Amino acid sequence: MKAIVTGGAGFIGSHMVDLLVNNGYEVTVLDNLANGRLENIAHHKGKVKFVNVDIGDYTQNIDHYFTNVEYVFHYAALADIVPSINNPLKYHKANVDGTINVLEAARKSQNLKKFVYAASSSCYGIPDTYPTPETSPIQPEYPYAHTKTVSEQYVLHWGHVYNMPVVSMRFFNVYGIRHRTSGTYGAVFGVFLAQLLNNKPLTVVGDGEQTRDFTYVTDIVDACYSAAISNIVQEILNVGSGNTYSINYLVSLLGGKKVHIPKRPGEPDSTFADITKIKKMLGWTPKVTIEEGVKIMLDNIEQWRDAPVWDESSIEEATKDWFECLGN
Ligand code: UDP
Repeated sequence: MKAIVTGGAGFIGSHMVDLLVNNGYEVTVLDNLANGRLENIAHHKGKVKFVNVDIGDYTQNIDHYFTNVEYVFHYAALADIVPSINNPLKYHKANVDGTINVLEAARKSQNLKKFVYAASSSCYGIPDTYPTPETSPIQPEYPYAHTKTVSEQYVLHWGHVYNMPVVSMRFFNVYGIRHRTSGTYGAVFGVFLAQLLNNKPLTVVGDGEQTRDFTYVTDIVDACYSAAISNIVQEILNVGSGNTYSINYLVSLLGGKKVHIPKRPGEPDSTFADITKIKKMLGWTPKVTIEEGVKIMLDNIEQWRDAPVWDESSIEEATKDWFECLGN
């Protein structure tokens, strides 16, 4: 059984590689190491084929890697809000052009059983309904979210036009070991863990009562695998923890001091997936509770030893464009 994981050296992709290797798949990783790190898959050395390639570059022919590949898991993308506001073209190239390029290559596989796309709950923007079902309006708030949404539409369109077996999985606030940002101000876990390690106060946005559907990464890749081996096609599925937790609760689990920083524009007060559809269609359920997940993070906190340490003033500087563009 042959599988390709784009972004397989990255955070979520590398966990997908673990699952596939453990299940006996022959895995090829396509990654340009923009955010990914070879050490994320170093434990598979000799077992996994690694190709350093930029999927967003049409001039690089990637078709031959897809010959007879049965499963494609497309995770390669640029993440994070701030740099997407600062550099939307770069995000379009990596996330949208990259997706079309991978779709085109997968189309020529001859043996494709499933194309699994890593979509984002950020497509819901500031939702009207909680828990949020897949049928909620699409209203992305910033370029990262927009590129992930447009790419999802490409995936479904390719499924429709070329009769490809595609599914789109909308991930909610994924966290887990190996989750690191490459220097930019990003997801909350990386920010807080680096602050904890350096005895700095945790920078809580607003009053900290906003909630997030923190979903542990192994549950996410389990859901993707279940979708891949199922007979569902042309579906969009939320993948969440089945719950939502306040930032203050996260702080209480992590321990440490806190400091409050201004509420950010375009942010929902809550993310909370309605996972009725995925439970029904795939029989999948999340397994890792937030308490267990946070314990795993703390047990592995040394992974954040050389991560950037943010404080009130560096965050203010880093998020200037965010406030300027979306704050009015
Ligand atoms: N957050 C926070 N401090 C930070 C970064 C984030 O309190 O330094 C909060 C943020 O307000 C949000 C949650 O953590 O409620 C998750 O933020 P993240 O950027 O990880 O994800 P998103 O907001 O895109 O869901």
